[in-house]
Amino acid sequence: HEILDIAAIRRDFPILDQVVNGRQLVYFDNAATTQKPLPVLNALARYYEGYNANIHRGIHTLAEKATSAFEASRRAIQQFLNAAHVEEIIFTYGTTDGINLVAQTYGRRFLQEGDEIIISTMEHHSNIVPWQMLCEEKGCVLKVIPIDDNGDLILEEYEKMLSERTKFVSVVHVSNAMGIINPVKTIIEKAHAVGAKVLIDGAQASSHIDIDVQALDTDFYVFSAHKLYGPTGMGVLYGKKDILNAMPPWRGGGEMIKEVTFEKTTYNDLPYKFEAGTPNIADVIAVYTALEYIDTLGKKNVAAYEHGLLEYATEALESIDGLRIIGTGAQKISVVSFVMDGIHHQDTGVILDQQGIAVRTGHHCAQPLMSRFGITGTTRASFAVYNTKEEIDRLVQGLLRVKKMML
Ligand code: PMP
Repeated sequence: HEILDIAAIRRDFPILDQVVNGRQLVYFDNAATTQKPLPVLNALARYYEGYNANIHRGIHTLAEKATSAFEASRRAIQQFLNAAHVEEIIFTYGTTDGINLVAQTYGRRFLQEGDEIIISTMEHHSNIVPWQMLCEEKGCVLKVIPIDDNGDLILEEYEKMLSERTKFVSVVHVSNAMGIINPVKTIIEKAHAVGAKVLIDGAQASSHIDIDVQALDTDFYVFSAHKLYGPTGMGVLYGKKDILNAMPPWRGGGEMIKEVTFEKTTYNDLPYKFEAGTPNIADVIAVYTALEYIDTLGKKNVAAYEHGLLEYATEALESIDGLRIIGTGAQKISVVSFVMDGIHHQDTGVILDQQGIAVRTGHHCAQPLMSRFGITGTTRASFAVYNTKEEIDRLVQGLLRVKKMML
């Protein structure tokens, strides 16, 4: 790609420059977590070396500096999502945490017996189990949008499911197991037409697709920083202000209160109402730098480059006899998930690792999706901006070796 200097980008990720099992590392497990560039690592070090302090409560200089950097991240995320109000950005520990927060607060307060919650066949377990737990507690009914053989959602079936009983729709923006991009705008419109609220799981979308929560008109949007060149243990819940205000708090403790007496406690305003306890200060601060890093590269440039990798990889892998790609849907980000005739995905993963190639194998926390395809798992290669076509060539050679060893 002409616009991005991939060799220079790779130098920002020192972890990539290492030998694993005697070969130069090929890191193709980016859908699980991306690597972190030097500016992000430096931001973490700068905080701990220079102004580590607890936020909001302190009046001393370091505390003010930390608070100001922490809140600057919130504003950066507001921009990143194009949220209307900064207090609509709630810091969480990740996507899983955000979904649980919504299920446990919005769900427990506003959903009742017989209400229907719609998810899809391709959900990550973190967008299945919290809703199952809620259904068990409240007597709600979980409905699942089916997919076709390409992995695309069957929207006609979704429309048939919608009724005045539908109270909540929670679907993934981009499937982690297949890379398929869902038509979330349509899904949201149709849910709103019956008065249901919508959560979009943006864990895989956030680093690849421009997100505009106002244009989508989504009620909630969640993602994790660690899939977007940021640190682990930090995530975001976006929610529309009116809805967040109507929701009861979840975790109780410091920071989320206005006044505490033994008789009665009043709760803090947004966003602090949902941020009990000392947050993940360093990692929140470093997310600012991760977003800045993506911004400097240009998300559109990154997406275009990654799309080139996806096309190259898809063609190369399809040329391997006995290999079948799972999820060939209409629109995809840079993920290729595949099975090979007569070879268990775990063997594939081990033999690739022996050649220094890191891929993910298994069910990708999407067991119902695997069942839909009648398989127990896949091998998944997922690309980020620092990956190259030469690395994809290494994967192809690696897979040919897998075949030679296993068949
Ligand atoms: N949803 C999707 C689509 C994901 O890919 C992931 C991470 N694999 C999650 C949810 C959960 O994210 P986290 O583990 O960061 O909470």
